[in-house]
Amino acid sequence: MRNIPFGRPILGSEERQAVAEVLDGPILVHGPRGKEFEEEFAAWTGAPHAVSVSSCTAGLHLVWFDLGMGPGDEIIVPAQTHTATAHAVELTGARPVFVDAEAETGNPDIDAIEAAITPRTRGICIVHYLGEPVDMPRLAALATKHSLFLLEDCALAIGTTIDGVHAGLHGDAGAFSFYPVKHLTTAEGGMVITRDESLARRLERKRAFGVDRTPSERSVPGVYDVTMLGLNYRMNEIAAAIGLQQMKRIDGFLELRRSNYESLKKGLDGVHGLQVLPASDGARRSSCYCLSAVLDPSLEHRRFDIVARLKDRGVGTSVYYPRPVPLFTYYAERYGHTADEFPVASWLSNCSIALPIGPHLNEDDMAYIADAMRTAVTELSK
Ligand SMILES: *Cc1c(COP(=O)(O)O)cnc(C)c1O
Repeated sequence: MRNIPFGRPILGSEERQAVAEVLDGPILVHGPRGKEFEEEFAAWTGAPHAVSVSSCTAGLHLVWFDLGMGPGDEIIVPAQTHTATAHAVELTGARPVFVDAEAETGNPDIDAIEAAITPRTRGICIVHYLGEPVDMPRLAALATKHSLFLLEDCALAIGTTIDGVHAGLHGDAGAFSFYPVKHLTTAEGGMVITRDESLARRLERKRAFGVDRTPSERSVPGVYDVTMLGLNYRMNEIAAAIGLQQMKRIDGFLELRRSNYESLKKGLDGVHGLQVLPASDGARRSSCYCLSAVLDPSLEHRRFDIVARLKDRGVGTSVYYPRPVPLFTYYAERYGHTADEFPVASWLSNCSIALPIGPHLNEDDMAYIADAMRTAVTELSK
């Protein structure tokens, strides 16, 4: 039997060496590697500015915090996303206004976003669900028309492009995650990219207590001022050193994810009772985070049996995401949400199985997963 984990970070001697070099030196934070990683990530995505942070969640919160969002403000967020997308809003005191997903892709429904705009709306945060690009030209026009800040949650969108422009650069800012199972990792870490220089400079200050100069910018040690309220959301040099090495691997990672997706999709051809969510490959290109097989509603009660059969054959799976965020206890109790408000997100949460296509796997693994899935679904849908 095989052992196919859903995700596994690929770290080699290069990362080990890079970390050892940091540990052998005196600088653990505020060093050259953080800066270099920002430059590399900016160059690779084509971003004018990149600001490293301690996680994607930190990046999302930092942006809303910087904009001064607070009680009385509304920010539109997807129901079908990681809870971090909503928490980043909720933490400021603003209200996350949830919208349902579209069934074809799982991305936020833009008609629903438009319908949710009120005089209190100050921003929109979308997620490129599983790396599938959102229709950003349409959304950007909508945000401009209503003077709303447009933030892209790009946690699963490293490699997602629209008309050749990377995700995160279509709205006002984009936040990325380097958590272990994502496209590349620094253990914990994140990055905010933006075309707005003034925003980038403010985020740099506010991620480090609102202090007006970093240690290397101080002519006399210990002399600085605090000119604004801030947080401690910095990335450390160990994480940045790992990230710099991962950048050398990212193109290869993405190619493998794409070819694994294509072979697994082909392997699932003709399996009844499920729908494979698309991973676009044209003017709009997906980052191929996983292959999401969404069961027909009639098979909902069989999902965990299918997952168990896959596990018995050594195939790890995941669920993105296990519940629409507004239906998690915290949000349901606070805002009184119910499942009938989010039928598509509920279907995706209850019926989808995320199958692994990461760069730790090859074509042969895809054939194995397809066979395991085909057998389980066929037997359990009888
Ligand atoms: C993983 C994820 C996050 C959180 O990323 P962290 O780096 O762990 O904070 C946020 N949004 C989405 C869509 C995610 O998938």
